[in-house]
Amino acid sequence: MKTRILSLLFALLLLISASALADGSRAVIANCKEYVTLRKSASSNAKSEIRMPLGEQVTVLEKKNGWAKVQYFDRTGYVPEKYLTPWQETAYTPRKSVSGHPVYCGNYGTAKHIEGRTVVVAIFADDATTSWNFNREADQHTRLRNRFNLSVACTWLTEQARRYRPNPGGFVWDWREHGDLYYTHAFTEDIVHGFGNPSINTAFNSYIHENIPTKKLLDTYNADNIIYMLYLNAPNSQDYRSWTNAVLYSEVPADKYVPEVCVIVPYGRGRENNPAVLAHEMLHCFGAYDLYETNPSSPIPQKYVNYLLNHKPNDLMNHCYFSAFDIVTVEFSEVDAYYVGLTDTCAAVKKWGLGPTIFQKHPANN
Ligand SMILES: [Zn+2]
Repeated sequence: MKTRILSLLFALLLLISASALADGSRAVIANCKEYVTLRKSASSNAKSEIRMPLGEQVTVLEKKNGWAKVQYFDRTGYVPEKYLTPWQETAYTPRKSVSGHPVYCGNYGTAKHIEGRTVVVAIFADDATTSWNFNREADQHTRLRNRFNLSVACTWLTEQARRYRPNPGGFVWDWREHGDLYYTHAFTEDIVHGFGNPSINTAFNSYIHENIPTKKLLDTYNADNIIYMLYLNAPNSQDYRSWTNAVLYSEVPADKYVPEVCVIVPYGRGRENNPAVLAHEMLHCFGAYDLYETNPSSPIPQKYVNYLLNHKPNDLMNHCYFSAFDIVTVEFSEVDAYYVGLTDTCAAVKKWGLGPTIFQKHPANN
C-alpha cells in the first residue's frame, strides 16, 4: 500500500516538473486580463521595460523566488512566474480540407475568415526608391521592430476573434522560427508611391506566383488563409504610409487567385509604426473597411464617417497611428466584427444604413 502511495506521489512529482517552466524553454503570458509588465529587476516596484500582451511568447532564462528572467524580442527582464504557462503547439482543424483551398477565391482574396488559421509571409523588399541593407544596424532595428509589431498584432487579432469564436486558428507568422516565411526581393516598380496603381498589383501577383509556394505553405501549416506582408524601408516622411492591396474595394472573379498584400512602411504620419497599424492593415484582408473615409465602392456611408470624425471612437479602423507602441490599445468594434463576418448584424447597420459585408455580397463561397 505504502509503495503504491509513494509511486503515485512520484508520478505526481514527475507531472509537476514536466509542466514547470524549464530554463531555456518557451512560455506564454497567461493569467492576466490584457498584459503583464516586464521589469528591470525581480520586484514589482522595479522600473518597467515594456508591456507584454496576453498570449505573447517569451523565452525563460532563469527562475528565482517566484520570478522568472525572460527574453521578449530584444528586451530581457523579470516577470512573476504565475503569469507564465509553458508554450504548447495547439492542434487546429481547418474549416475546409486543405486540398481545396478556400483562399483560391477572388471574392475574398487570400484571407477570408479571421477565425481560421492564417499564414503570414514576410517579404523585405527594395523598390525603385527604397532599399534595405541589413549590414546597417538601423535597418536591423527596423526589421526587428516589424517582427515585434507583427507578433503583437497577431496575438491581439487572435484575442479579438476569441471574443466571438471559441477556437480561432491564430497566426503562423514568425519568420525566425519558420524560415520558409521569409523572402527578400528587389522590385523595379515604385511601390512606395504605388497605392491604387494597377501595375503594382501586377508586379505583386507575378512575384508571388513565381516565387512563393503558397499552396505548400498552407499545407505545411494546416492553414485556411495567407497574407503577404511587404516591408519597405521608406524614410520618415509625410509622403508615405502603409496600405493594403485587399480585394475589398474591387470586384474579382470568384475563381481568380488574388494575393492580399499589406505594404508596411516604418513610419506613418511622422511616427514610428506601432502594432495597431499592422493589425489595421491585416483586418482589411479579412473584410474590414476603413471608417475614417469612404469611397464609391465602400459600404460605409459618409454620414457615418462624419459621425465618427466628430465622436473620435477608439476604433482600430478609424485611427491607429496614435496607439501605444508596446501594446494595441485601440478597439475592435462591433462594426469591425460585423465586417469580418464574426456577427450577422450590429446596431450601427440599421441606424446608419451600413452596406453589406463581403460575405453578404458574395454568399456563394462563404
Ligand atoms: Zn485602412
